[in-house]
Amino acid sequence: MKIAFIGLGDIGHLMASHLAREPFELTVWNRTAAKAEAFARDHKARVAQTPADAVRDAQVVITCLPSSAEVEAVLHGENGVLAAIRKGAVLIDCTSGDPPTSRSIAAELGGRGVEFLDAPVSGGTTAARAGTLTVMWGGDATVFERVRLVIEAFGKKIVHAGPVGSGDALKAVNNALLAVHILSTAEGLAILVKAGVDPKVALDVINASSGRSNSSENLIPQRVLTRAFPRTFRLALLEKDIGIAAVMAEDLKAKTPLIELTAARFHEAREKLGEAVDHVEAVKIVEEENQLEIK
Ligand code: NDP
Repeated sequence: MKIAFIGLGDIGHLMASHLAREPFELTVWNRTAAKAEAFARDHKARVAQTPADAVRDAQVVITCLPSSAEVEAVLHGENGVLAAIRKGAVLIDCTSGDPPTSRSIAAELGGRGVEFLDAPVSGGTTAARAGTLTVMWGGDATVFERVRLVIEAFGKKIVHAGPVGSGDALKAVNNALLAVHILSTAEGLAILVKAGVDPKVALDVINASSGRSNSSENLIPQRVLTRAFPRTFRLALLEKDIGIAAVMAEDLKAKTPLIELTAARFHEAREKLGEAVDHVEAVKIVEEENQLEIK
């Protein structure tokens, strides 16, 4: 099966690595060509010069880009996907996108006989490397069956969220919760540091109690207490995700003040810390405001 993979970023290149083998025939395209060339040195893949060149023969096209805006950008233009994608192909968008744009992309592709699934992923770079991502997809079940093998190459828990856009919606809300947990856990630990409680002792108890989350169990012990702060998922991308959840809430007239506040705090964190930092570094705004380090 001929696959084109577009977007070899922090998570994309790990997902693509599972498709660089039989029964797949992989072509990759990345905006920064050096990354695609490095990928092809380590994996069985052809490097395309443009998105159009990548998708020309593909039965399945996968996009994994920062947001739906970049997916729109690679579709259009002289050398864009739409210039060459085959009728009957399926585009699987693994970007954590936004539901309205995914619906409009699906409609545009549908007009050309191309099927679309939004299929964002969770589990981070660790699950991407292992090929055990959770995949939440939106779209038609008969389309999914045609590409099941492809999604199973990098996914383990694979869930139909509903019509096109539903995968994006679920992903945005999951990540809004992640953002809330990171900041609320950092705030709780800031109180405890000020109260003279060792954060390691605090986390030991919280993780055996009802205040626990992935942030308290994994992210803060492994990345904050150690001061390692590895870059696996950019803060700017989490800001984008909680922003999508906040806009959905507004559109749907849901009252979500906590999500709104956390979206504003992540905006502030990104303005202070920049585009390149990891999402967990958001704790640094809490540390700075309280003039302490959680360690
Ligand atoms: P990165 O920022 O690491 O990579 C983004 C990719 O998109 C790169 O290949 C980049 O190319 C490309 N790109 C950016 N802008 C454009 C553009 N205008 N035109 C064409 N290509 C462009 O992101 P990730 O790989 O971390 O994330 C990809 C998606 O997956 C995002 O939606 C993210 O929210 C989601 N995700 C990420 C997870 C993670 O742990 N990292 C976990 C779950 C979901 P270039 O190399 O040239 O910069």
